[in-house]
Amino acid sequence: MKHLVIIGGGFAGFWSAMSAVRQSRELGKANDLKITVINKDNYLTNRPRLYESNLDTVRIDLQPLLTPLGINLVTGLVTGIQPQEQTIAVKKDAEDLTMHYDYLIVAAGSRLKQPEIPGNHLIHNVDQFESADNLHKHIAQLAAGGFKGEGAKTVVVVGGGLTGLEAATGLQEIADKYSTEKLQVILIDRQPELAIGYSNEAREYINEVLMNSNISLRPGTLPVKVDEDYAYLSNGEKIATKTVIWTAGLEASPLNKFLNGNKDNMNRLEVDEHFKLPSYANISVTGDAALSKPSDGVYATMSCQYSLFQGKWSGHNAVVDIFGGEKLPYKQSTYVTCVDLGPQRAMFTRGWDRQLQVTEDAGKKIKMEINTVWVVPSPDPEANVAAAAPADPAF
Ligand SMILES: Cc1cc2nc3c(=O)[nH]c(=O)nc-3n(C[C@H](O)[C@H](O)[C@H](O)COP(=O)(O)OP(=O)(O)OC[C@H]3O[C@@H](n4cnc5c(N)ncnc54)[C@H](O)[C@@H]3O)c2cc1C
Repeated sequence: MKHLVIIGGGFAGFWSAMSAVRQSRELGKANDLKITVINKDNYLTNRPRLYESNLDTVRIDLQPLLTPLGINLVTGLVTGIQPQEQTIAVKKDAEDLTMHYDYLIVAAGSRLKQPEIPGNHLIHNVDQFESADNLHKHIAQLAAGGFKGEGAKTVVVVGGGLTGLEAATGLQEIADKYSTEKLQVILIDRQPELAIGYSNEAREYINEVLMNSNISLRPGTLPVKVDEDYAYLSNGEKIATKTVIWTAGLEASPLNKFLNGNKDNMNRLEVDEHFKLPSYANISVTGDAALSKPSDGVYATMSCQYSLFQGKWSGHNAVVDIFGGEKLPYKQSTYVTCVDLGPQRAMFTRGWDRQLQVTEDAGKKIKMEINTVWVVPSPDPEANVAAAAPADPAF
């Protein structure tokens, strides 16, 4: 019996597991493979929805999706990887466990880089479920106090990329759950312009939406300090606020430090076209933790549109590495983005130059469908196994 251990039950880890089940069945080796998924908690967290006003359905229970397929789910925190011994260290409740693997897939994802400025413990984010939930509680508390006091209704959002735009334009809907007061949102970016990397047409649309909302812009600056009542900007400005939300800067899992290989400036480990880490015979890295390039493509961004497909290749190729068979090179030929811009508004772009395709209500419908249908696994475990074959999604 071979033991395949997958660290992470996010998009990449979940689909690695599905694909491993599928390929082990294809090879007639299902009874010779034990699959364990280790995740911090019981959930696949749909991180793209963490800016939304309703967090009730953004976490998907992994147990009913994994257990019927014979996959072992361990909830615990992986604290170390020892490739020489083929073991990982896991903190489960108060216990320290050592788990042996024959093959390891690291799908531990990414996280927001904590800004290194005074007062950073006061800064909110929408990167993980717990932090998004904390932000909701904080806004509820301000609302319960009637948003009284200087700056209580002002929210500073740092970062004018996709997450910053979604957080800034979605905040009022969170506040509306608790109060009829209108928030004043200030969107800050260190670049002189917002949404750099988007086509001119897309940027014009974003600017038009922002101009028609209660969001004011501060390009070309960043907070250098935060306290309970103010955000202090590098341009000398002092903004009265009790809520700063940081969205800029992602980094790959700190577990990558236990592994040798080329790393980029986001700590991602460079893998080959099969998601294998070149320095090891039995370790793959996938999803946001990996620096990967589809054949004939450009480097994948940290995004769920890549991670969930990457999982299908990494799971397949891991099983082939263990039992033999045909390895498949990663292929993903298209790139799209869909940015939520508040009630009845979103924009859908296509290509690396992010050409504007769909906006307004029609864009919002696409966004909602992506967030609640396309990226969400089926409740039927067998349907997920059937959908796990590696294939260029070409959307
Ligand atoms: C607010 C927001 C909006 C976004 N919007 C979009 C979007 O519109 N489109 C898009 O494509 N992408 C979007 N993304 C990015 C997308 O969510 C990520 O790229 C995607 O979740 C990466 O999937 P992953 O499986 O590689 O990693 P993750 O989703 O980060 O999953 C990693 C899993 O591993 C677990 N884990 C991590 N470390 C350990 C450990 N040491 N021990 C045990 N378990 C561990 C975590 O708990 C988690 O379950 C957004 C992200 C955010 C935060």
